[in-house]
Amino acid sequence: MRAAIFRGTRDIAVGERPDPVIQEPTDAIVRVVLACVCGSDLWYYRGESPHAAGSIGHEFIGVVEETGAEVSTVTRGDLVVAPFIYSDMSCPHCQNGSTISCVRGGNFGDGTIDGGQGETVRVPLAGSTLVPVPGTGHSDQTLRSLLTLSDVMATGHHAAVSGAVRRGDVVTVVGDGAVGLSAILAARRLGAHRIIALSRHPDRQVIAKEFGATDIVGARGDAATEAVMEMTGGIGADAAPECVGTAQAMATAFAVARPGSTVGMVGVPHGDVPVAQAFFRNVGWRGGPAPARIYIPELLDEVLNGTINPGLVFDYETDLDHVADAYAAMDERRAIKSLIRIGSL
Ligand SMILES: [Zn+2]
Repeated sequence: MRAAIFRGTRDIAVGERPDPVIQEPTDAIVRVVLACVCGSDLWYYRGESPHAAGSIGHEFIGVVEETGAEVSTVTRGDLVVAPFIYSDMSCPHCQNGSTISCVRGGNFGDGTIDGGQGETVRVPLAGSTLVPVPGTGHSDQTLRSLLTLSDVMATGHHAAVSGAVRRGDVVTVVGDGAVGLSAILAARRLGAHRIIALSRHPDRQVIAKEFGATDIVGARGDAATEAVMEMTGGIGADAAPECVGTAQAMATAFAVARPGSTVGMVGVPHGDVPVAQAFFRNVGWRGGPAPARIYIPELLDEVLNGTINPGLVFDYETDLDHVADAYAAMDERRAIKSLIRIGSL
């Protein structure tokens, strides 16, 4: 089968990998329909985080081709959403809501295990990992939104949940990438009254507003903090989802969070939490990689009934042959998020 192969910094190309086969009775083989590039893939692409040579990609939806003998929750022909981590949903960590730490789990596209950016994927622990999508004849717009549940929308939701967004809150979302935009949508779902989006890009501001942002702040750093403090009467935000991971983004999130609030952190950290500042203002933080498998069912229902349309984050589309373009477009900020159309229903 053909798949994206990570070969090194700024070197991704389509190549051949072995056709996946059932290896364990808990496996399923999924034919990928839509995949995409994650912001975390860009860290690898830019050489800022290590990644083994080989398979890559962890966000995909597809159709089940074959199941192992112990898989009973999905069957051949099912359209499924794959969370970016596979998990058993029964170990102590899964039972406590941290599927990312599943004792039997693992990452798709880690160099050896099949990645989402390929024609076919062997999914371990398929029965507890894959979420079947009810119904048939879904529109392309619905499919694009379903794809976001694999990671980006689940991660934005995790930022809002980790930041303890409550009904009536004033929320400041740090980051206007696809995750930050998703966090705006998630904050609106959770009932935020006012959502201040920090964004300097007109195209992203449009989506931010579509997703529920009530205010846009175009400044960065100290100027952004000053603007938010002025808008909130000097108090700060009730919640501050941090969706970038750089030191500056973290500093901004902790500065705009009001005393006693929580920063929800989902940006892969490439800097340090300002501990002393957080301590003296009683600001906490929670977050990390999202337990997407746990969030998918409730978000899936809202995608299918049209309540949310997170697929709007995809503003660039290509195919597997042009996977390098999908990365370059995001790297060069020509795209918010790149969709890779691999198969059809
Ligand atoms: Zn587990």
